[in-house]
Amino acid sequence: MTVPQMNSIKLKLIIIYVAVVMIVMIISGTYMLYSVRTEEISRVKGNLASHAEIVEREIINRYDPTDFWLADEWSILAAYDFQSMILSDLGIPIAPQEFNRLFSNQRLNDEAVLAAVGGGIGFTVGSRAVDVNHNMHRWLAYARPVTVGDTTFIVYIRASMDALNESLSRLIRHMIIMILIAVVLTAILWFFLANTITNPIVTMIARAKAMAEGELSQEIPVHGNDEIGQLAYNFNHMARELNQLDTMRKEFVANVSHELRTPLTSIRTYTETLLDGALEEPETAAHFLSIVDDEAKRMSLLVSDLLELSRLDSARSKLDQDVLDLVGLLRLTIRQSQILAEQKKQTIAFNNPEEACFILANSPRVNQVISNILSNAIKYSPEETTIHVSVETTDTDHRVFIKDEGVGIPEESISRIFERFYRVDKGRARSMGGTGLGLAIAKEIIEEHGGNIYATSNPGEGTTMVLRFNRYFESAVDSEN
Ligand code: ADP
Repeated sequence: MTVPQMNSIKLKLIIIYVAVVMIVMIISGTYMLYSVRTEEISRVKGNLASHAEIVEREIINRYDPTDFWLADEWSILAAYDFQSMILSDLGIPIAPQEFNRLFSNQRLNDEAVLAAVGGGIGFTVGSRAVDVNHNMHRWLAYARPVTVGDTTFIVYIRASMDALNESLSRLIRHMIIMILIAVVLTAILWFFLANTITNPIVTMIARAKAMAEGELSQEIPVHGNDEIGQLAYNFNHMARELNQLDTMRKEFVANVSHELRTPLTSIRTYTETLLDGALEEPETAAHFLSIVDDEAKRMSLLVSDLLELSRLDSARSKLDQDVLDLVGLLRLTIRQSQILAEQKKQTIAFNNPEEACFILANSPRVNQVISNILSNAIKYSPEETTIHVSVETTDTDHRVFIKDEGVGIPEESISRIFERFYRVDKGRARSMGGTGLGLAIAKEIIEEHGGNIYATSNPGEGTTMVLRFNRYFESAVDSEN
């Protein structure tokens, strides 16, 4: 069990919970104390009032004012915790005797008495006064005028608040102890419970650290589907993606090196042979030099494809796009590819739709993609075949179909041809001058346009490449602007 660090989540959790428990207990405790006190005070007030009634009934109504102090009832009333008095209408004690003496003909200075002198009922909480033994106390005092004939007296009853205050402070003491126990229990409980929350986080920190140091294959157990579970799940997802990216990066570098080495080796072999004497034979020399030239061209093609890919990878800024007619663009691209097709006595047949098909696109880029696909169709089809180009329109998109009668693509390769450097038949593709990057570039460009590209094929019969573009609707763009 580790002690939580000063700034750890665990410590924060413990502090938050302890604070919450304390606040809740203090608020409810204060409310409880307040209501106990109010209830107790109103109970005592009721008792004081009924004592006043007894004094009125049993003494004031039955004795002569001069005999008030002689009444037997005083001794009975004295048995209670209350002190009862009869005061003159000015608030000066008349009976019983000890109070008469205590206050020596002075008016009792209590707001309850003042209220009764004014003719009303008075009740005070916490007024300070001495008892018969000259000890200072706080009192709950009740006073009310009583008229007999034309003389008015004031009945004054008071009860010491000592007992009430004592029991309240006992309650406060108990409550403080309870709060302390609750706080300690909460802290202890959270010290252990917080681990269920913080342990997975601590694991994740360790794994993330390991990842930052290059160990990319990290996996953490996912428990449940709460926020922490989701964090763990997404962490694993991220780890897998990073791992995959890393593998792809390594493969890519290996591929590039390999692709560059092949023509370089060939160039070196021929130049060495030339230097070793082949230069003397002009015919051989010319042949070798043309091979060197071809290889150099291949290399520069590869490098420009690589640069293109890296531009696409890093181009976070959107391509400039304009509204253009796909049909017009197809016509143009087909015209450009015509020479290449003619070299193989192939025909490109365009099944021209009647209407223009508008898309939002970067015209040179889409031209580049279609031209690349057409050149593949030409490259991978025998002589005297036809390449069919057509467009289909649905509610949402325009699809361009480029169908050839060539070698086709085997089932297992169909999804991989868009990968970088992937070639179905390595030797043949390379001898045809392909870099294996053309379709990867095409895919990037089309996806940048919000569309997609896929292929279907019957090996031996031909391949159909499909390009899907979102239809351009005038109103849709207008309302966006
Ligand atoms: P390359 O430069 O080798 O043509 P691409 O990325 O353009 O590279 O194509 C990848 C691979 O897909 C090619 O090597 C080829 O094997 C296959 N391929 C592409 N288009 C066709 C097609 N029309 N018919 C048959 N195979 C094709």
